[in-house]
Amino acid sequence: MTKFETKIGLEIHVQLKTKSKMFCSCDNNAEGKKPNTLVCPVCLGLPGTLPVANFQAIEWIIKTGLAFNSEISKISKFDRKHYFYPDLPKGYQISQLDKPFCLGGFLEISGKKIRLNRIHLEEDAGKLIHRGTKSLVDLNRAGTPLMEIVTEPDISSPKEAGEFLRKLVKIVRDVAQVSDANMEKGHLRCDANISVNDGKKMSPIVELKNINSFRFIEKALLIEEKLLAEDYPNWPEKRAKKTKGYDSDRNTTYIQREKEESKDYRYFPEPDLPPIDTSVFDLEKLKSELLESEEEKIIRLESLGLSSNNARLIADDKERFKIFSSLATGLKKDDLLTLAKAVVNNYFNFSFSENDFEIINEYVKAIEDLASEKINRKLFSEIVLNIHTEQISYSKAKETLGQDEMAEDEADLLIEDILTKHPDELNRYRSGEKQLLGFFMGQIMAHLKGKGNPKEISSLLRDKLEGK
Ligand code: ZN
Ligand code: MN
Repeated sequence: MTKFETKIGLEIHVQLKTKSKMFCSCDNNAEGKKPNTLVCPVCLGLPGTLPVANFQAIEWIIKTGLAFNSEISKISKFDRKHYFYPDLPKGYQISQLDKPFCLGGFLEISGKKIRLNRIHLEEDAGKLIHRGTKSLVDLNRAGTPLMEIVTEPDISSPKEAGEFLRKLVKIVRDVAQVSDANMEKGHLRCDANISVNDGKKMSPIVELKNINSFRFIEKALLIEEKLLAEDYPNWPEKRAKKTKGYDSDRNTTYIQREKEESKDYRYFPEPDLPPIDTSVFDLEKLKSELLESEEEKIIRLESLGLSSNNARLIADDKERFKIFSSLATGLKKDDLLTLAKAVVNNYFNFSFSENDFEIINEYVKAIEDLASEKINRKLFSEIVLNIHTEQISYSKAKETLGQDEMAEDEADLLIEDILTKHPDELNRYRSGEKQLLGFFMGQIMAHLKGKGNPKEISSLLRDKLEGK
């Protein structure tokens, strides 16, 4: 049987979470907004308007490039990419052809380097909404800054493509912090190119477009990998390319339009925007703003003495990492390990349920006390562990903490005030959403900043919520 090698390359579009759009000052956050309310003559593409490049967006694409070890172009420029579609009123997209901001770079997954070809900056198009026989257009998204990250075809399996994408999300969201990268909300969209070869001959390249989840990308790639190998006797002599979509209901792929070649877009330099000299950006400063990657976190946590399993469980979870980091400073090794154990076992987990409600209040309290430096860290981790294992009572913990009591009428007023400020939540609670107790308790605790007895406050709160 013929042995095949699979090659996959990805093109990932990532929306930047800048305040304003790429070439105008319209609000860039369209979430929950009415269609066509975040628009102006520039992003509507009216004749005679001029684009102004968003400094923040350029800074952020450079920052992203640094996170991926790319080379930053000394001079970069924008180009017009022409095509007709109803969501693109100008008839062209401002993009980048031959001088993208970032060149090369790589991302390592399971010890393997996946090379990047480039990262360029462009504007997003609007959105078409199909209703029966009618199609509507919403241009709120037109002009959102969009980074296009293009890989080399170094990915060798559908599974590896999934791994790559999941890691890429963490880099843009947590390391460079330039996008929320939520695929369901369309912040991140991915096209995949796949081909297989037997070392002598290559299959056509299939481009899978607009697939909206990582799981579906993996599934669609698996289907194509198999189809291409099965079609081995019919592989053409010449390089060929097909564009396909993915039908998740039927788990099949289907042929779409023929893929345009670069020449079809009639690219030319954007005459309304000057080339950009990137030496105005302080690369060292941008580099220093990158947060630690997951691997770097794991290595550092292991060097503190944590087991590799605990190091991974903490590095892997944003909340756990935040809690661990905020409490770890100055702790001796034994206490660090205790703290790690508490964090990994979710003793600090704030998801309220009726049953563990009171015990969680005690943690909230202890954490707030720590934040206000009322107790030292070692004592804190002991208290938390002890409360959890119920070795000491709340009142004993309280004695250790040396707390001020809060007058009951003060708590009374505060609770009234919080309920008045959240009438919707109050109504929902009263019509049965009892888990909102946690929401109210959280609001109250945030205001109390370490004062008061959570047990008493929660019973007072319950009474008021029930309308007593
Ligand atoms: Zn605008
Ligand atoms: Mn693009």
